[in-house]
Amino acid sequence: MQQHLQHPIFKVLANIATKTHTEAFVIGGFVRDLFLDRESKDIDIVVIGNGIEFAELVGEQLKSKVAIFKNFGTAMLKYGDLEIEFVGARKESYRTDSRKPIVENGSLEDDQLRRDFTINALAISLNAHNYGELIDPFNGIEDLNKKFIRTPLDPKITFSDDPLRMLRAIRFATQLNFAIDEVAINAIKTQKERINIVSKERITDELNKIILAKTPSIGFKYLFDTGLLQLIFPQMAGLYGVEIINGKAHKDNFYHTLEVLDNIAKTTDDLWLRWAAILHDIAKPATKRFEKNHGWTFHGHEDRGAKMVPQIFTQLKLPLNEKMKLVQKLVQLHLRPIVLAQEQVTDSAVRRLLFEAGEDIESLMLLCNADITTKNEYKVKKYRNNFELVKQKLKDVEERDQLRNWQPPITGIDIMQTFNLTAGKEVGILKNAIREAILEGEITNTYQEAFDYMLNKAKELGLNPISHQN
Ligand code: ATP
Repeated sequence: MQQHLQHPIFKVLANIATKTHTEAFVIGGFVRDLFLDRESKDIDIVVIGNGIEFAELVGEQLKSKVAIFKNFGTAMLKYGDLEIEFVGARKESYRTDSRKPIVENGSLEDDQLRRDFTINALAISLNAHNYGELIDPFNGIEDLNKKFIRTPLDPKITFSDDPLRMLRAIRFATQLNFAIDEVAINAIKTQKERINIVSKERITDELNKIILAKTPSIGFKYLFDTGLLQLIFPQMAGLYGVEIINGKAHKDNFYHTLEVLDNIAKTTDDLWLRWAAILHDIAKPATKRFEKNHGWTFHGHEDRGAKMVPQIFTQLKLPLNEKMKLVQKLVQLHLRPIVLAQEQVTDSAVRRLLFEAGEDIESLMLLCNADITTKNEYKVKKYRNNFELVKQKLKDVEERDQLRNWQPPITGIDIMQTFNLTAGKEVGILKNAIREAILEGEITNTYQEAFDYMLNKAKELGLNPISHQN
């Protein structure tokens, strides 16, 4: 294993271990990632003894500042782009009401036993007598090779002790494309209610990591099948299922949503676009109706869905800022490009879309493209072709009319000054009329045409300009 510890920092750590007669090991995620050939910048060091004192010696030698977390008995220092964390080997025991363990000093084996999964319990010695030796008491390497997530202890106990580990299991399975041991899956099913003692922030952290993986659906299927999703994000679980009336079935919106999410994950790493994919049909269960003549309909699910976004963001402790607004807007508009692509693509419809989507038009188009999940080859082809047409038209209209970040060529103040008006109904009517005329293509998006149009419109309202320069 020596060849794995390439970085000079390991020699520094080994020398200090020898000098102070302290046993030290690299442990956890860094070792796992070494064997997976994944780059990792976080190194966890466990020492048999006092982790903070050891870190201070390393800090002195490297002339690096050491951050000490007395309450946790840990210390951290940065070295180049590495972040190195030190802790004394420990033994942990748990109470039922908290995921915070009671901690005692322990041996390396105790410390490996407190780790969540066999693949996260690997250690490499930094000690002179066996430098570079891998210590793998639970066959973690075998599990890495088999692509398998398994707990060192009885998973019922592991998950009950710290229920966040249920989500970590699913998150690692998603990120690494590993399978979760059947016994562990069953343990999650029986321990799932324990998730209630985990903070919402922690849960959402793991959820976001699942969402940012290459194929997020892996994680969501596990979440749903174990019953965790129903507890942490019931609105999404509510998308599941197919109803049949008069022989007509609607599609399963849960699996459809997962397809859209996987699709968008192929085109963007942006967390918020991926959230928009998750939420685009979130109001389908709430708006579902069976109509005699039309079959299944979900009228207004985009409006209702957009309204649900702030409530879901609040519930999941996601930020209530411009990111939320973006998600909301994308949910609201997600049908628009596809409706356009199904119908005659008129300039005015394209102009309206551009006006409403503004800066987020590309994001909206990514979402809509991802939303084409029909299995019907003919339909896919037709949609995609029309979609290309919509994209081309968007480009043309944009170049011509400059509607992105549209500012009215005539402002409310212009209108008030021209007709000697105070703020009131007429100003609004004229402003709207000008905007509509531009969007409909009756006039171009220029001051002069807008001004002339305003004068005509004002005449209809019985308004006369006080002076007419220009
Ligand atoms: P990533 O950096 O992708 O989150 P990681 O495995 O490095 O992966 P950390 O959360 O930094 O994750 O944890 C470092 C190590 O600490 C893990 O490899 C594991 O050994 C241990 N660990 C972390 N969280 C837990 C937990 N909740 N229960 C048991 N062991 C844990």
